[in-house]
Amino acid sequence: MVAPAFDYVAAESYDEAVRLLAAGGEDAKILAGGQSLMPMLNLRLAHPELLIDINQADQRSPSVAGGLLRLPALTRHRVLLEHDLVRQHCPLLADAIRHVGNVRVRNRGTIGGSLAHADPTSEIGSCALVTGAQVVVRGPDGDRTVPAAELFDTYWTTTMAPAEVITDVLIPVARPRQGWSFQEMVRRTSDFAIVAVAALVELDERAEVIIAARVALAGVADRVTLADPELPAEVTCADADFDAAGAAIADRLEPATDVHASGEYRRRLARVLVARALRQACARATGAAT
Ligand code: FAD
Repeated sequence: MVAPAFDYVAAESYDEAVRLLAAGGEDAKILAGGQSLMPMLNLRLAHPELLIDINQADQRSPSVAGGLLRLPALTRHRVLLEHDLVRQHCPLLADAIRHVGNVRVRNRGTIGGSLAHADPTSEIGSCALVTGAQVVVRGPDGDRTVPAAELFDTYWTTTMAPAEVITDVLIPVARPRQGWSFQEMVRRTSDFAIVAVAALVELDERAEVIIAARVALAGVADRVTLADPELPAEVTCADADFDAAGAAIADRLEPATDVHASGEYRRRLARVLVARALRQACARATGAAT
């Protein structure tokens, strides 16, 4: 398929991109890695008259300061997979990225583009939710910070205003005695997830009692979704009933049926993958697994 005709401009800065977006209105779109936008153009699912290429707008690399891992919006998936700071401070994300598309997609796709695209099966979106990431967004009135939990609206739609651009993603660095796990079910390698689960578990100072546990799910709703495993207070990894936690979360879901899987199958996957993710996250938190 061939994309409809469009005008193209390479923005030299995010400020220029915002100005062009504001002037172009609904007919203008940001182009980052192009791994979602170009297929949509080629399939004629999007008809922007102006593409604003931001690839020259920012040359920064990942950095860490003040307990936050800062990922510039143009950070490629491949960098998330390989960068030492990402592997050290958010190993969950580095692991999850392995499941995103294929080598070509990971070479070009960006973290900002992935979050802005708001795919409900997104590995990156679910990691952003479970880690409590914040997204820095620049618009005509300056920068604002949006919690990932408030970014996703519905299928392929965010709460960002039309003239806003994501510039950074800020992720709290992994804490001591925090374990993580990413679990995904796909029919074929490089497919979009049927269901994926990201989990974080944190233990107390004696590395015994679970003091925090969170999961995020992809592929079970119109957007990536946070869920509370509702583990009893003072429970240890050995005593926690992760199967019950997975069942309770799955029971609250109402996944849709589509060509890839029935809603019931997705619910069943969610139950199994949540239990598996919590169990592995706990094992990592206690040091029993790497
Ligand atoms: P683009 O395609 O350039 O843009 C996507 C959207 O975001 C557009 O609407 C654009 O205007 C907007 N946008 C881009 N950057 C910004 C910004 N900084 N601020 C505001 N808006 C912005 N994704 C998954 O999550 N999991 C998968 O398993 C997966 N598999 C894939 C397999 C294939 C074969 C392909 C082609 C894609 C796949 N993807 C998958 C999508 C891929 O990860 C994309 O890279 C990602 O969704 C979008 O990033 P991008 O930089 O390419 O954005």
